[in-house]
Amino acid sequence: MLSYFRRHLGWKIFLSYLIVIIVGTAVLAAAAEIAIPSAFNRHMSSMGMMMGNSMGMDMNTDLFSNFRSAVLEALSLAALAAFLAAAVVSLFVSRQVVAPVRAMRDASQRIAEGHYDERVAVTGNIEANELDELSQLALSFNQMAANLEKTETMRRQLIGDVTHELRTPLTAIKGSMEGLIDDVLPAEDETFQQIYKEADRLQHLVDDLQELSRVEAGAFELTRSTVSIASLVEATIDRLGHQFEAKDVSLQVDIPENMPDLFVDEDRIGQVFLNIAGNALQYTPAGGSVKIHAKLEGDEVHFSISDTGIGISVEHLPHLFTRFYRVDKSRARASGGSGVGLTISSHLVNAHGGHIWATSPGSGKGSTFTFSLPLSPKNP
Ligand code: ADP
Repeated sequence: MLSYFRRHLGWKIFLSYLIVIIVGTAVLAAAAEIAIPSAFNRHMSSMGMMMGNSMGMDMNTDLFSNFRSAVLEALSLAALAAFLAAAVVSLFVSRQVVAPVRAMRDASQRIAEGHYDERVAVTGNIEANELDELSQLALSFNQMAANLEKTETMRRQLIGDVTHELRTPLTAIKGSMEGLIDDVLPAEDETFQQIYKEADRLQHLVDDLQELSRVEAGAFELTRSTVSIASLVEATIDRLGHQFEAKDVSLQVDIPENMPDLFVDEDRIGQVFLNIAGNALQYTPAGGSVKIHAKLEGDEVHFSISDTGIGISVEHLPHLFTRFYRVDKSRARASGGSGVGLTISSHLVNAHGGHIWATSPGSGKGSTFTFSLPLSPKNP
């Protein structure tokens, strides 16, 4: 019985009201018991004086007992009314309190069972910020459920994406090995080179995934130092210059004089430059050109890397920074791209408090990748 009350908030509320009523009634009854005789005697003696002591002792006692029972009767009626009011009010309050709590308990159980789309109703005016504590709790609960759902979707998507990405090189390696075992493929250099290339691609993919998981989880520290814009660009040219020459793509740099220094993680921003300039080189045919441009925009520096390459049609632009997104899947995969370079770059730029975006006049018309970095370091 006691455990039944312990398990039900509605009964606890009712019992708490009941205790208040019992204590109130008891105190009132005790106070009345103490106060009634002296008040009655005072009243009777003043009346006796007025009436010349004509009332007998019996009549006095009679009157007293009648008065006392009338007071106690009124008190009992008041206690009964209070009891009924407590029952009604506790029922109403428990509906208001217990129902949303129960809804949250049921919803959390369903979420624990894997139904991440579960939400509870939020009563009150959210826009006007007129929510009581229970509605605020329901709102936070829903936000938590939405975040859980998002994380779960991302987890599933990641597993799907990774499986898909790993399958292609693995299938190629397995196919070549089977060909070798069955003597369908000749055991010569070219076959081994092909297998080596696929294994190398696999290695790159795993490295990229490791880096991606690190930046997506924010599990990296920025080692900021004061760096000149020119040295950031020079480092990129040092790393990629030969490849530009080898492919016969010209690389131009346009940095205005007197640009301020930046307070950034040189290696990480170098990684962003390498990725974007490397892509520009990869997607620009021989004879084309790539231009690195820097300019001051308010309290930010904007770096743009424009190419005269294959361009990107407008429907692809918003998805370029989503992991594993490739405009031309077969072409990018064949060239060794894992489709996570821009996602990593975007995380790195965001970690510096900047943004990254892409524009292109359309397919075949070149593209421009721009990223901003704040002049004063601030938390993103
Ligand atoms: P990948 O390793 O495939 O290059 P990224 O994340 O760096 O992965 O790029 C994602 C996709 O964006 C590429 O597969 C390509 O389709 C497109 N892309 C990136 N840079 C350019 C560019 N300069 N010109 C045209 N397409 C580009």
